[in-house]
Amino acid sequence: MKKYELNSLNKIELQEYLENLGEKKFRAYQLFEHIHKHKVESLDDITVFSKQLREKIKENGFLNQIKLVDTFKSQIDETQKFLFELHDGQIIETVFMSYDNRNTICVSCQVGCKMGCSFCASTKAWFKRDLTVSEITSQVYMVEKILDQNINNIVFMGIGEPLDNYDNMVKTILILNDPSGKNLSQRSMTLSTSGLADRIIDLADLNLSINLAVSFHYPFDKQRSEFMPVNKRYDIKTLLKACDYYFEKTGRRVSFEYVLVDGLNDTDAHVDKLVELFRGKNIHINLIPLNEISEFKYSASKKSNIKAFQDRLNKRGINTTLRNKKGADIEGACGQLRVNYIGEK
Ligand code: SF4
Repeated sequence: MKKYELNSLNKIELQEYLENLGEKKFRAYQLFEHIHKHKVESLDDITVFSKQLREKIKENGFLNQIKLVDTFKSQIDETQKFLFELHDGQIIETVFMSYDNRNTICVSCQVGCKMGCSFCASTKAWFKRDLTVSEITSQVYMVEKILDQNINNIVFMGIGEPLDNYDNMVKTILILNDPSGKNLSQRSMTLSTSGLADRIIDLADLNLSINLAVSFHYPFDKQRSEFMPVNKRYDIKTLLKACDYYFEKTGRRVSFEYVLVDGLNDTDAHVDKLVELFRGKNIHINLIPLNEISEFKYSASKKSNIKAFQDRLNKRGINTTLRNKKGADIEGACGQLRVNYIGEK
């Protein structure tokens, strides 16, 4: 018989589950609160339930747990990275960063990724499977427990394409936002996509107030398609139309991530094209120096070039922020830790 992953169920689903066991609705709220607020790791820790009830719940249900296998602390900033093992032996990575009075966690949503971006370490390990809701929320709860700190900002920007695991992502966001659980404001969550335009439209129609970030990097279709194959499916025009729709529906300004690579996307022609695409739009561009990895043969733009690139965009009316590299000494690029760990095994 199928066993239910109870920490992946929302309140309504838990209610159905407990009603099927002949229990009252309020038990579902208690169960939800213990999983998502008190972060219990075992049903035996829910002592407000009798032993008999706990055993009854366990007959068809379980709490899916992730296990910490390694931690890496940066020596140059407060970034920490965690490798977690899933029940089937798969490895995922989660990153903690602390800045501007915010404790931010960057969580993974898939094991590997199908998108095939050429600059990304996750592509090397390829795609294995989607993460379940509990495997995504548990990354937050585990890091909170390990560091004994409250996470007040979540970015879905780790390994995987969140919109390719759409249903689980939406459910995760709603569970993390639930006042009986983590109670994190939707405005404190950011979903980062490589550009699945159809799913951006679906997300906009849900009228959530999460932030949307787009990994953009290349303003020319030919070049973007070469480095980000998703662009062959949804070209820049289609992607930007979906982003405009997201802004219209939610009122949330879309951010565009732009990793600067020496000689590749940091030229005057790139500035001109970005201005052509974005002038007059209520958007923001985050400029990020490349975290160099062996899988991607290019180098980060020179500091002087990065500053000049930003100045030229700002002068022409495009809002930008220059982001610092985080955790550069502990293999900061997306999916790199996991790939190296798997390689060593
Ligand atoms: S950059 Fe993101 S979307 Fe692209 S392959 Fe890596 S994990 Fe996937």
